[in-house]
Amino acid sequence: MSFFETHDPRFAAYVMKNAPVKQLATGFDWVEGPVWFGDAACLLFSDIPNNRILRFTPGAGISTYRAPSNYANGHTRDRQGRLLSCEHGTRRVTRTELDGTITVIADGYNGKPLNSPNDVAVKSDGSIWFTDPHYGIMTNYEGFQSPQELPCNVYRVDPDGSVEAVLTDFNCPNGLAFSPDESTLYVSDTGRMFHPDPQHIRAFSIASGRPTGGAVFHKVDKGCADGIRCDTDGNLWSSAGDGVQCIAPDGTLLGKILVPETVSNICFGGRAKHQLFITATTSLYTITLNRTGAQRP
Ligand code: MG
Repeated sequence: MSFFETHDPRFAAYVMKNAPVKQLATGFDWVEGPVWFGDAACLLFSDIPNNRILRFTPGAGISTYRAPSNYANGHTRDRQGRLLSCEHGTRRVTRTELDGTITVIADGYNGKPLNSPNDVAVKSDGSIWFTDPHYGIMTNYEGFQSPQELPCNVYRVDPDGSVEAVLTDFNCPNGLAFSPDESTLYVSDTGRMFHPDPQHIRAFSIASGRPTGGAVFHKVDKGCADGIRCDTDGNLWSSAGDGVQCIAPDGTLLGKILVPETVSNICFGGRAKHQLFITATTSLYTITLNRTGAQRP
């Protein structure tokens, strides 16, 4: 069987035809938020409904990193390598310090609690950008059902701790990623729960430091673009209902990696940041690419 679907000849340079989509572990309920720790040679990811962060170590398998996890969802690392976590249950973004203590980065705006932070990215100036859709408070499945008090915004937290709502015209912002030169911010909109909202990825110019523009960059043709990551060429890799889509900087679909379960999120990792880790419904998958992830560290 083929693990790929080619839509543009450029895609051939990015994949290795003899590298399989491999299931690393299964039996979870809804996995999300993968983040690679090269220094520890392991991947952390969330099993949200089961309220835990798991660790995959090549050669050693799955172990528990943190439980309960406050229904953590998306993760990344800051420029100092510290873990940043979006927590549905406590409606906040946190940083795990090197000694293991937890620092709250943001838990409210204008005196009101956040909804349920979903995914997070860090810019080279140290600012922390995160999305705040309402998925984690709509039901008790991935958090605690609670009234929504704020719109579903994208926020930026500056190094001095100040929080600003920088994007306020989304139905439900979800994944986000900076282009390698940080001139563009990509944000996916996965729509309000139980509503037939449009689902697409938008692109914002942040040349001036603040996002402007926001035209629709790409619409995945199956499912939705939940988690997104860039490679060093500026291609955007996106989760989708039938796998992972590779999208050129001009918005053209180059090709797909086909995955047997609905994909929620992805991240690059491994020895050369050439391995794509894929969280997909009940399982963790991986595939080795002929491509390097742009995420840092
Ligand atoms: Mg997400």
